[in-house]
Amino acid sequence: ETFEELATRFQLNARLVENITKIGYQQPTPIQMQAIPLVLQGRNILASAPTGSGKTAAFLIPIIQSLKCFNNFGYRAVVVSPTRELAKQTFFETDRLTLGTGLRTHLLEDVPKFVKRAKKNRSSRFDILVTTPNRLVFLLSKKPAVVSLESVEWLVIDESDKLFEADKEGGFRDQLAVIYKACSSPKVRRLLFSATFAIEVEEWCKQHLDNLAEVSI
Ligand code: AMP
Repeated sequence: ETFEELATRFQLNARLVENITKIGYQQPTPIQMQAIPLVLQGRNILASAPTGSGKTAAFLIPIIQSLKCFNNFGYRAVVVSPTRELAKQTFFETDRLTLGTGLRTHLLEDVPKFVKRAKKNRSSRFDILVTTPNRLVFLLSKKPAVVSLESVEWLVIDESDKLFEADKEGGFRDQLAVIYKACSSPKVRRLLFSATFAIEVEEWCKQHLDNLAEVSI
């Protein structure tokens, strides 16, 4: 199936399709071919897909399709990346896939600046938040609150195996619990990506995700 066929089957947003074409993607990669239809059909997924497989667009395309346009309600999608570098790359991909859709993405880099802005009560007016777990958990711990995830509809944990693997002291599990709780509305869709098969990730998903589909390449 080409992107054009996928676009027809799911009535994908014309601007999103245009961006995909402009970037130069013609054929969905195997992980995209598996994941995009499942997510568009409403499933939560655990996807085993290594870096380089096109996994970023596999979760971004259905999210962009579902959010469609900017609505000023606050963050509606949160993408948690294990490293700053990966967060940056994900931001770059989000930026080019959302071009002209009105959706705005925030790469959380400067935490003190974020806190300062929040204290001045300036709403961030972003739809998608890309962050590492540390930074988000730090913000969520602030009182009075400086970040609200009440409007979140999508939670993505990228390369979750890395996060579980580095988790000798259980720190990531605690962070994930905080993030998960902050995005706890029953309507929140959850997508976990893992570069390798990891039993901890699979167990976590089976405990925490309903309507779960597993895909791997
Ligand atoms: P990722 O696994 O998300 O880090 O993506 C790896 C690389 O594949 C990135 O440079 C993407 O721009 C590229 N890519 C993603 N999807 C496609 C596609 N359908 N066709 C060609 N290249 C792609």
